[in-house]
Amino acid sequence: MSIKELDKKHIANTYARFDLQISHGSGSLVYDENGKEYIDLSSGIAVNTFGMADPVFINAVNEQLNKCQHTSNLYYSEPCVKLATLLCERTGAKKVFFGNSGAEANECAIKVARLWASENKGEEYYNIITLKNSFHGRTITTLAATGQDVFHKYFCPLTEGFLYAEANNLDSVEALLKDNKCAAVMMELIQGEGGVMPLSCEFVAGVKELCERYNTLLVIDEVQTGNGRTGALYAYQSYGISPDVITTAKGLGGGLPIGACMMFERTENVLGAGLHGSTFGGNPISCAAGISIIERIDNELLSSVTEKSKYVFDTLTGCEGIKSVSGLGLMIGIETEADAGIVISKCMERGILPIKAKNKVRLLPPLNIPFELLKKAIEVIKEVAKECAQ
Ligand SMILES: *Cc1c(COP(=O)(O)O)cnc(C)c1O
Repeated sequence: MSIKELDKKHIANTYARFDLQISHGSGSLVYDENGKEYIDLSSGIAVNTFGMADPVFINAVNEQLNKCQHTSNLYYSEPCVKLATLLCERTGAKKVFFGNSGAEANECAIKVARLWASENKGEEYYNIITLKNSFHGRTITTLAATGQDVFHKYFCPLTEGFLYAEANNLDSVEALLKDNKCAAVMMELIQGEGGVMPLSCEFVAGVKELCERYNTLLVIDEVQTGNGRTGALYAYQSYGISPDVITTAKGLGGGLPIGACMMFERTENVLGAGLHGSTFGGNPISCAAGISIIERIDNELLSSVTEKSKYVFDTLTGCEGIKSVSGLGLMIGIETEADAGIVISKCMERGILPIKAKNKVRLLPPLNIPFELLKKAIEVIKEVAKECAQ
């Protein structure tokens, strides 16, 4: 039986896979099992920050693998401390909790918010406001945080205490804060799975102000927007707000599983011994990978992300077959006149790998994609969007 047949037979049917088996890659190029070459425009859903088989990443991982792969959280461990120190220095966060995924990072943030509220406001202040059209993960609690009914179906009752406000509508946030006992507002700054929908600066600043007025925490989910993706190390930095908690995962480990919940001044001492944990959290290999990734996200890389982003926006905006281009940095959504799924499959035939977000063609290339490859890929998207619209 082929790999595709065995997959259908033995892998839980949770993913609608493309008809493509990726076997290996180098940088922003990936190859299927027959050797056909593709330009990777999704980097494993914003995970492979520096592409495939990157030598610096491989070195960092190999070096750690040859020393120690795991110790448990019963002992001190250097890679874990070094990554946390680096993250705190670069963000102003005070403390970090490491898990293994975005959902786990968000679970931690939700526990921190409820703990903080029960200590500072009272146990009845457990509600958390999230936004409609958001995505925060697949566990029962992060599903509850996710403001999209389609994900809730079949899994009720979900964790109680989540309320959904309209994105970019401050009145809707305030109405919920006024009428409910709340611990936090939690949101993505650019709704990724929701169709690459950025929040407006005024809305985000307004939410921050409301959080202060109602003495609630502001939690920013940077699982997808984080780690250089939007042209800042974390997107909140370009929105100019100070959050109380941020979460990240995806690109942090450059391809290895790691998630982080970062706590700022108001929340740094909320978690105490025995209140949270994760067997694999802070795993030395994942942390060594994370250090190598964060160290390389310097100003030079960040400005190249912004420059590449500008190229994509300038090239595609207003083109035939393209209705709109949204996003920030190298997290880009393209609304095409033709169905996004059809545009994507035509792109794949021509050796380009974008993915979908709602009704859009989504681009999340490796941050170091060479300009020539990006240009080549964007030309194909431009042609395909036009062809498909006709
Ligand atoms: C992907 C994603 C998650 C979930 O991350 P997992 O690692 O799949 O658990 C949570 N929030 C946002 C914004 C995401 O994009």
